[in-house]
Amino acid sequence: AKAQGRNSYKIFDAEMHTQAVNRLTLETDLRKALEREEFVVYYQPIVDIVGDRLIGFEALVRWQHPTRGFVSPAEFIPAAEENGSIVPLDSWMFEKACQQMAIWKSKYPSHFPLKISINLSAQDLRKASFIEDIDRIQSETGLEGSAIALEITESMLIENIKKTIDLLTQLKERKIQISIDDFGTGYSSLNYLHRFPADNLKIDYSFVSQMQQGNRNYQVVSTIIALSNHLGLDVVAEGIETPQQLQWLQQLGCEFGQGYLFSKPLSVKEIETLFLCEAPK
Ligand code: C2E
Ligand code: CA
Ligand code: CA
Ligand code: CA
Repeated sequence: AKAQGRNSYKIFDAEMHTQAVNRLTLETDLRKALEREEFVVYYQPIVDIVGDRLIGFEALVRWQHPTRGFVSPAEFIPAAEENGSIVPLDSWMFEKACQQMAIWKSKYPSHFPLKISINLSAQDLRKASFIEDIDRIQSETGLEGSAIALEITESMLIENIKKTIDLLTQLKERKIQISIDDFGTGYSSLNYLHRFPADNLKIDYSFVSQMQQGNRNYQVVSTIIALSNHLGLDVVAEGIETPQQLQWLQQLGCEFGQGYLFSKPLSVKEIETLFLCEAPK
């Protein structure tokens, strides 16, 4: 038994070693990926589900790794947050997405105004040049503040309340919108929510895509929509996959939506052919 124990310990150890090495190369690769231009911005349409109209896109990063192939953001974002490479990556995403919106605006003016939503991580808010960088990119691209929304999570709100309120207030002065992302999945910041100048809440796709009449997820979604209406915030439901889910959300008073029912995240070319080339509705 002893020998076997030692044996299985060895196997476990070897596995852990492989995982650690994988993680290490992933982290080193992340640092190089920006210079090597391995990241791509994908765009997922966000729609007005009352008027059935396109209102903008969420920018989502994609990593085309030279040997691993496609790596999911769910896998590398946590690693990027750990080793700090998330800060230059998010800054690059912000710049790329704003440039793209400016191009689309001049190419397809009849579809505008459209908004671009960009994800932030906690470390982005700690960067000394955060506001400065936004101002620079805005003046370079000519994109007005009202065309930009920044998505932050609940946990980012309660980290450093005073500083966060100050930063968000500076964003509001620039007419940039603030979305509370993944609402309901993290810390419950209900007590704090009214203190932040947020414009909308995003209901996480894990709730919406698992909705069934009367089940727990349905209750959660219904409660978040009621809360948003009460606080005067808009609400965006992510992860709408079926016409039934769409109908429930409309009945519950949700105004905006995003999900595979409308479209998966798409490349620039695909967005142009599927959403921007034809005449607007
Ligand atoms: P998120 O901000 O909650 O983004 C929405 C995620 O839901 C995306 O996954 C999107 O592809 C997925 N989704 C959209 N509609 C549906 C649907 O109908 N059904 C299902 N099952 N899923 C749907 P993605 O692109 O894999 O991104 C995962 C997460 O990675 C994002 O979650 C976000 O937290 C993070 N992320 C992505 N891009 C960036 C970035 O540029 N910067 C930062 N800081 N985080 C990012
Ligand atoms: Ca998001
Ligand atoms: Ca998120
Ligand atoms: Ca989410």
